[in-house]
Amino acid sequence: MADVKIDLKNLKAGGFIKERGKDLFTVRLRVPGGRMSVERLSRIARVAQKYGKGFVHLSVRQSIELININFADFDAVVAELGEDQQKVASCGARVRVPTACGGCEYNPNGLVDTQQSALEVDEKLFGTVTGHHKFKVGFAGCPFDCPKSATNDVGLQGAVWPELDAEECISCGLCAKSCTEGALSMGEDGRPVFGAEKCIYCGDCIKVCPTGAWKTVKRGYSVRIGGKWGRRPLVGTLYATFLPEDRVVDFIGSVLAWYVEKAEGAGRVRIGDIILREGSDSLLDHLRKDFPEYVLDRTILPQIIDTQLPLQKQ
Ligand code: SF4
Ligand code: SF4
Ligand code: SF4
Repeated sequence: MADVKIDLKNLKAGGFIKERGKDLFTVRLRVPGGRMSVERLSRIARVAQKYGKGFVHLSVRQSIELININFADFDAVVAELGEDQQKVASCGARVRVPTACGGCEYNPNGLVDTQQSALEVDEKLFGTVTGHHKFKVGFAGCPFDCPKSATNDVGLQGAVWPELDAEECISCGLCAKSCTEGALSMGEDGRPVFGAEKCIYCGDCIKVCPTGAWKTVKRGYSVRIGGKWGRRPLVGTLYATFLPEDRVVDFIGSVLAWYVEKAEGAGRVRIGDIILREGSDSLLDHLRKDFPEYVLDRTILPQIIDTQLPLQKQ
């Protein structure tokens, strides 16, 4: 074989990641929201069987990775995956493939269509170069947050705002019992009392009410910004509530624009660290210009998760 020089940086940007073995790469596939058709899955299995090691790896961000692919087979692998069917992902300082739980299609807890949101973000923003570091987006269908959206650069959780129509209430008490946040109690008049400051917008009261007395008056995403995992983890904090599904791409685009500008000259740094440096108000003010009805008046800094190990006895 001719001695071909491989530009590893460019390959990684295109989803081809060097392995330990000579000429061998992991090929990371683009699977927004972790969902694919059985036909696509079968196609990937055939390619993995033919060019790989006979197994695939499921990454923690819902990607399928083909293992032990020789770089001489890259063109054939891409062609057989089918350019229009199964694309290769990207790595590096870019917007990554968004993750999402199943959302509201079949999951009884789901409040919003996370799968649709993940597809839209993937289509419009995937691969956008940040110039600084990776940029991850994650969607959860409800405040349970199974996909750990709060540890993404932008994490979105489905949310609903309940409002009571007292005329329809039969004083059964089920809603107060179902609210695990202590946001509902039963009043002396036999009607539920709503403590808005404790509500996390889960919608359990709406689902459990036998008469439909609780109504959904707002639906959308709670948006947390500044989370990340890794050596210095941060939990993103709340910047906006009830962001409509059709404003998600624009909102994330606006967060990206602030990040790209504020991180100028800072090197390889995630947005959470830029917020720690700049304070929360700068990003709140920036977002408020285009999204005044959803952005909070104030928020707190991303929360540091202490990963310091206790001193070991010698
Ligand atoms: S976050 Fe909510 S909607 Fe998504 S999988 Fe978990 S419980 Fe279901
Ligand atoms: S939406 Fe959830 S947290 Fe809020 S009052 Fe209803 S059950 Fe309680
Ligand atoms: S569950 Fe519905 S009917 Fe029962 S107390 Fe609550 S609001 Fe009233």
